[in-house]
Amino acid sequence: MTTANFHPSDDILRDFAQGNVTTGMSVALSAHIELCSSCRTRSSELESESIMEWLKLEGDSEPDFSGMIDTITALPQLTTEPQINSAPVNSDDLAVSEIHMLDRSFTLPRVLARAASNGLKWNKLAGGINQAQVQIDNETQCEFLYMTPGSQVPVHRHQGNEVTLVLDGAFEDQFGHYGPSDFLVRNKRDQHQPSTEEGCLCFAVLDSPLTFTSGLARLFNPINNYRFRRATSQRF
Ligand SMILES: [Zn+2]
Repeated sequence: MTTANFHPSDDILRDFAQGNVTTGMSVALSAHIELCSSCRTRSSELESESIMEWLKLEGDSEPDFSGMIDTITALPQLTTEPQINSAPVNSDDLAVSEIHMLDRSFTLPRVLARAASNGLKWNKLAGGINQAQVQIDNETQCEFLYMTPGSQVPVHRHQGNEVTLVLDGAFEDQFGHYGPSDFLVRNKRDQHQPSTEEGCLCFAVLDSPLTFTSGLARLFNPINNYRFRRATSQRF
């Protein structure tokens, strides 16, 4: 297993421990935590801290044990994968546990295998990018992205947050070079242009559409907004 160099912040892990993130985001976080032992440990610590803070808040009054148990059992269990659909899925039934692109195959973290278990439909985008969207919740656009070797995404800025988990290969932008298991968060201040020499498979979660900022790619902005609304079923 490759050690990640980029990890979710404590604030993000704390929100995750307290159940304050979208399901799409929790899938990306669960997948990173499956791949990253240091975030696994840190998540457990933050989950314990959240419980201790709750107990302290309750400390002045007579302890209400039934309420305490309800609250503790309502906290997200890090060993439990987020429920993508209501049907029980055991790992033997997963339709997609690997992704094959060109002559490579990639084994997916369990939570992503579950997210992809209805099958993936790949669309070719400009610049050697392949995209397969997965419907996880109604607030985010979640997708697998495969950048073919030598490809480059047009310069773009985000209207909200974009989380990217690198699954295989590597890519870079003006902020750094990212490899397997790396977890990146880009927000609306960041304008960047990812590119890859060796090819790269990622899982990405967007909470609002991209805005391309240069060249002909700007023509895609209305289409991106439309596709984002359709993917997330949001009404603006
Ligand atoms: Zn980590």
